[in-house]
Amino acid sequence: MFESLSEKLGRALKSLAGQSRLTEKNIEEALREVRMALLEADVHVQVARAFLQRVKEKALGVEVLQGLNPTQQFIDIVHQELTAIMGGVAPEQPLDFASRPPTVVMMVGLQGSGKTTTCGKLAKYLKKNGRSPLLVPADVYRPAAIEQLHVVAKDAGVPSYRTEERRPVEICKAAVAEAGLKGWDVVILDTAGRLHLDEVLMDELAAIKAACGPTEIIFVADAMTGQDAVRSAGAFHEKLGSTGVVLTKADGDTRGGAAFSIKHITGTPIKFVGAGEKLDDFERFHPDRMAQRILGMGDVLTLIEHAKDRIDEKDAERMAQRLIKNQFTLDDMRSQFQQIQKLGSMQKILGMLPGMGKMKDQLETVVTDKRVKHLEAILNSMTPKERQNHNLLDGKRKRRIAAGSGRPVHEVNQLLKQYLQMKKMMSQMNNPSFMKRMQAMSN
Ligand code: GDP
Repeated sequence: MFESLSEKLGRALKSLAGQSRLTEKNIEEALREVRMALLEADVHVQVARAFLQRVKEKALGVEVLQGLNPTQQFIDIVHQELTAIMGGVAPEQPLDFASRPPTVVMMVGLQGSGKTTTCGKLAKYLKKNGRSPLLVPADVYRPAAIEQLHVVAKDAGVPSYRTEERRPVEICKAAVAEAGLKGWDVVILDTAGRLHLDEVLMDELAAIKAACGPTEIIFVADAMTGQDAVRSAGAFHEKLGSTGVVLTKADGDTRGGAAFSIKHITGTPIKFVGAGEKLDDFERFHPDRMAQRILGMGDVLTLIEHAKDRIDEKDAERMAQRLIKNQFTLDDMRSQFQQIQKLGSMQKILGMLPGMGKMKDQLETVVTDKRVKHLEAILNSMTPKERQNHNLLDGKRKRRIAAGSGRPVHEVNQLLKQYLQMKKMMSQMNNPSFMKRMQAMSN
């Protein structure tokens, strides 16, 4: 989402390199470039102005800290202010829950913003976090939207509310009552959206709010619509008192301006970001981590959370045991590739690693999703026996595997070489003298 902003900020910050201290003049120069970078990223003018003002004040006021050069100091300030303008450090819990269940979460937004999909993503997220959500279709004007929500609910493995009732307020009220009876502790209302904001829609939403007393009213904003998303988020907040925003389609070709501006302009925080059509393409929005990503400092914490969610711990443990016993086979290598793919696209993973922002383009030609898929195809073309014992792979079998996977023979050879290297490295790690050396180094 922020690739281009990130790259341009990097360039602006470089202009400070080689300076011995922060002065009004070199700060001004750097800020001019930062300003251009922000505006090109479609950041709201008012937000850019406030941000630059704060960075300038802080940069001029800093004591020269021992051990930090001017660029580092400036980056530190920019990081702090980026975090602050996007909402500060996120609270421990993204949502508030009612003291007496069920908690009602009302999802609002314009048609096509990704509201129904987001309802499913949120339900799945809550379920993973020990809640039992109920999805409620309240967009009675589009029968397809109701059916879509039932499908999404099934996909997320959560119940959805079915009724013959056609009045949105009545549907929501009855669903909340039923949730109370059945012990579903969060009710997610998928309300109607229109192409444009209008009074009729607002009145309907206000009536649902009055009838159901939601703890959270979440506006779903399409990041691709840039400043329009910011304006509608503001309008909905003014009329309904929304409590937060989910920014969708952050995977698309968006410059990130909305993510940057929404909190400052509307006063409501971005709580989650949707970055894909699948229900798992959903993560919490952490301004400080996002600021790190923008500055090319990576986001290892989010990467670890991703891994925790998607990788089976028992599998990982089993693999570790096999490594310790030096039994690493091609089968294990295959399951490693499968695990890697579960983390998401290579582009996404690389983007979260510190310092990789700038090198991403070069690296992507080496570690592409396609390449991982090719390697997996080669492994899949082997027989289970061969994956257990690579010595069975002679020239004839390698040619068959190449033909079976549609890859050239040299790629099969390359994969085997890589496997043997990994195996060798692992056996070295198991060697007691190697472990001693490592311990000595860390002491
Ligand atoms: P609604 O009209 O607001 O309920 O929107 P939908 O949930 O039907 O979504 C509209 C379209 O946007 C669908 O094709 C979704 O698959 C797609 N969509 C939703 N969220 C995302 C997202 O985070 N990324 C991408 N790329 N597409 C999304």
